[in-house]
Amino acid sequence: MNVPLTRQPHLHSAADMKELAARLQLEVEGEVLFDKVSRGRYATDASIYQIEPVGVLIPKSIDDVRAALSLCRQLGIPVLARGGGTSQCGQTVGAALVIDNSKYLNHIGDLDLDAMTVTVEPGTVLDHLNTWLKPHGVWFPVDVSTAAQCTLGGMTGNNSCGSRSIAYGNMVHNVHSIDALLSDGTEAIFGDKTQMRNPSPRITELVSRLYAIAEREREQIEIRVPSVMRRVGGYNLDIFHPQSPRPYTSDGGVNLAHMLVGSEGTLAYSKKITLKLAPLPANKTLGVVNFPTFYQAMDLTRHIVKLDPCAVELVDRTMIELARSNPAFKPVIDQALIGAPEAILLVEFAGESKAEQLRKLAELVELMGDLGLAGSVVEMSDVASQKALWEVRKAGLNIMMSMRGDGKPVSFIEDCAVPLEHLAEYTSKLTEVFQRHGTRGTWYAHASVGTLHVRPILDMRAGGAEKMRAIAQEASEMVRQYKGAFSGEHGDGLVRSEWVSWQFGPRLTKAFEEIKDIFDPDGLMNPGKIVRCGRMDDKSLFRYAPGYKTISFKPALDWSVWNVSNDPSTGTTTPPGTGGDPTHGFAKAVDMCNNNGHCRKFDAGTMCPSYRITRDEQHLTRGRANTLRLALSGQLGPDAFTSDEMRATLDLCVSCKGCKRDCPTGVDMAKMKVEFLYQWQGKYGLKLKDKLIATLPRWAPWAARFPFLFNLRDTLPGAAALSERYLGFSAKRSLPTWRDDTFLKQASATDAQTANVVLFVDTFNNYFESENAIAAYKVLQAAGYRVHIAGPSSTDANPKRPLCCGRTYLSAGMVDQAKQEARRVVEALQPFVSQGIPVVGLEPSCLLTLRDEFLVMGLGDDAQLLARNAFLFEEFLAHEHEAGRLNLKLRPLPEKRALLHGHCHQKAFDAVKPMQQVLALIPDLTTELIESSCCGMAGSFGYEANHYVASMQMAELSLLPAIRKAEPDTLLIADGTSCRHQISHGIGHGESNSHAVHVACVLARALV
Ligand SMILES: Cc1cc2nc3c(=O)[nH]c(=O)nc-3n(C[C@H](O)[C@H](O)[C@H](O)COP(=O)(O)OP(=O)(O)OC[C@H]3O[C@@H](n4cnc5c(N)ncnc54)[C@H](O)[C@@H]3O)c2cc1C
Ligand code: SF4
Ligand code: SF4
Repeated sequence: MNVPLTRQPHLHSAADMKELAARLQLEVEGEVLFDKVSRGRYATDASIYQIEPVGVLIPKSIDDVRAALSLCRQLGIPVLARGGGTSQCGQTVGAALVIDNSKYLNHIGDLDLDAMTVTVEPGTVLDHLNTWLKPHGVWFPVDVSTAAQCTLGGMTGNNSCGSRSIAYGNMVHNVHSIDALLSDGTEAIFGDKTQMRNPSPRITELVSRLYAIAEREREQIEIRVPSVMRRVGGYNLDIFHPQSPRPYTSDGGVNLAHMLVGSEGTLAYSKKITLKLAPLPANKTLGVVNFPTFYQAMDLTRHIVKLDPCAVELVDRTMIELARSNPAFKPVIDQALIGAPEAILLVEFAGESKAEQLRKLAELVELMGDLGLAGSVVEMSDVASQKALWEVRKAGLNIMMSMRGDGKPVSFIEDCAVPLEHLAEYTSKLTEVFQRHGTRGTWYAHASVGTLHVRPILDMRAGGAEKMRAIAQEASEMVRQYKGAFSGEHGDGLVRSEWVSWQFGPRLTKAFEEIKDIFDPDGLMNPGKIVRCGRMDDKSLFRYAPGYKTISFKPALDWSVWNVSNDPSTGTTTPPGTGGDPTHGFAKAVDMCNNNGHCRKFDAGTMCPSYRITRDEQHLTRGRANTLRLALSGQLGPDAFTSDEMRATLDLCVSCKGCKRDCPTGVDMAKMKVEFLYQWQGKYGLKLKDKLIATLPRWAPWAARFPFLFNLRDTLPGAAALSERYLGFSAKRSLPTWRDDTFLKQASATDAQTANVVLFVDTFNNYFESENAIAAYKVLQAAGYRVHIAGPSSTDANPKRPLCCGRTYLSAGMVDQAKQEARRVVEALQPFVSQGIPVVGLEPSCLLTLRDEFLVMGLGDDAQLLARNAFLFEEFLAHEHEAGRLNLKLRPLPEKRALLHGHCHQKAFDAVKPMQQVLALIPDLTTELIESSCCGMAGSFGYEANHYVASMQMAELSLLPAIRKAEPDTLLIADGTSCRHQISHGIGHGESNSHAVHVACVLARALV
């Protein structure tokens, strides 16, 4: 099967496309990507659509953009500007040359604190801008949920709106001027009269024609443009005769930059955007209003907004329950609840004066009393509780998005805006509409401005298109009845451009077409959006069209939990393995990526280190998931799943599991890479280097017998260089040193019968760093535990070979061998875990394999039991301490400060906190956690010559700089063996602060 990727008619010939690629290569400095796989990665955004672009340009400068535009003009090829590609309506998919601004065009400059403005290039990410602005006491206040990844160019293109829009307005209220490039090569600054002095004849004519249209259509503008603040559909023709309740300009004049805001890249390319800034609010306070019915929450919002809050955000019962089902969020949400409300509203007040906010909070309490809801407000004035509750609101949405099966929450009426007096009726009627169409939706978000988000669950492969149209039709009738806006936040794109004429009528639609032609006479800028568009339910443009199929194969791992069907009306799923997926769940796991772009963030969390260093879509979780999806569905040609391109796409994935934790829908690329490598090596076999690494646990006993011989690689001059040349190990690094004093050799026999803890010592801590295992053993004994050291079961075929979790085999895709190792471990530990005796391990990547990959190897209930009883050393101690059972006497250490680096797998399993908890038991020791992603070593990754540079770049992102800044006598703690090696190598052997230690060694030193 080979489904063509582009289902839209081609607007240009293959020869033109080839010529464009060739000439771009010659004329631009940036990256030119015209291969099928790269184009596939740019064929989607966070919408339901997919269109293959002509090619992709990642410009290094505005000169590159100028050159590209000129070439496209000559060849008649459309152009599509793109930022983070997080649009929900299909704005950034099209058969055009996609210009991705996000990698290089991200400079910030011209901060003017008197005028309160700053100028940015279009690829600047909002959070980066606000981090840059923070020391100046100002911020850009359009705080969209995608702040960590969306760009100012994209926000301007979409007229984006944040949670606090009631206080600050939308983009259109906050853009000062735009330095733009038109498709005919004209360049001009669009702004107010003072900024548009001495325009060229082309611009003078353009401006006068715009004024003429506005004058001609004045009456239509007044009749047709809804008078709500959240209206982002169509072009902003009402800047000439404002309909927004919030003025567009302070002096009531026209600012022509606002015509480009929300134009979705269809009128001009924004080279630079000057933004209006706001003072950073010194204080915030939050009141959480609890409602007995959802209807009341909606009905009373209009009274609450009169108190002048800066945000009023809804969380409904479904989301409350989702949050309560998560152990981390339960205590936070519970703090905000009074009884069992059907909905809560988060009402935020912000500003300079704390006293003023507290007064407002008191007024809120009084108001709710007057409205018959006395005692319904939880007052939260401390910053930490407020922050935690906002996080819960975001997480609830993420859990909703992680629904398994082909039915997914679909965004197409997600942001209709209605005047507040109709909000209650609108939401309850729309809920009935969903029920009539056999589906349901969860309500959340911006109650303050009448823009509630809701996504009905639809299966676009089966009947989704029909239901989408029917629901949109009914929703639109209500929006009209309430004089609201059909598009109140997310724009038009492909899903809503056809509703522009519905909303604005034939005259204004015609006027919009005229505006398009004035700016872009050849129709080159992002055609098919806002004007002259197709139908929202054109199935040929769906990412998952009816008849969507995948190749079939038998995976090595068990993916059956993803292989389910779901019922849109109840949200229930069928049992694992029943979803009819020809890849037994693997393809459906890949399909969990909905392109929301959350993996493009880089200031917090772990995901995704390879993107952080490259800023390439190819090296991003989303790019990888898209490539897998296209390959599995045959859209990249035969055998694409095991192609070189697929391998290259996964090459820099360090299997950190950052995505497993941070991706809102739980895309677990590390596991997917194991599956891919299994299929790959089944076809092509393994290189000698990979075999050597994978089989290390097998030959390690020999190396420990003759360490001198096995260490020659790092002691014999020239041997490291040879190992690089013939095996691919980087000569820049030394390898871990073999020694004969392994832990298991030193350990004396333990009594399995009386044990109440089992110590599982992995290959690395046994052979290379036995002091860690010795320390752990001592600490456990000092705390009074009877420790048994895990060893093979009496029936094991290799009773002398130490147990191994199989991690090295998994890293090479040798899943069959990994399963053999796992089976040995499960068999050996079954007698203990069946009695509830905990198994404690030291190396995060090894121990956590017992809790993760062991469960997808078909090892049955015993593996489940083991997973429930397997703990990291510090998890076990922290748990015992919490239960009041830990009897560990510790004394102060000479060092008073410790810097911690969490292993990625510890972070993925939320197991960093226990490190801090147990270190807190040492008197007088202050610990600080390094906000780091992956250290970059990632098992063998950093030892490989072809990955050395990437590995060091990852380390230099935050880990090594944080260590260099530390005082010389700081205690460095890292539980991962790779992390410790990376720190030692990156800081320099023997330098101060180059030696990191396992938490077990620190505790052992502190034993009384
Ligand atoms: C989970 C989720 C939550 C979201 N929450 C919000 C929210 O709270 N509020 C909100 O408003 N939106 C929200 N969105 C939608 C989206 O994130 C925003 O609209 C965001 O601002 C888009 O930024 P981007 O960089 O991804 O732009 P893109 O999607 O890349 O582009 C957006 C538009 O701008 C155009 N464009 C980009 N650069 C230029 C340029 N240089 N010149 C001309 N045109 C250009 C593009 O052609 C496109 O039409 C959300 C989306 C998701 C997936
Ligand atoms: S991988 Fe996850 S975070 Fe990234 S785009 Fe896909 S769903 Fe979003
Ligand atoms: S495992 Fe790590 S490197 Fe790989 S895609 Fe996920 S976050 Fe990125």
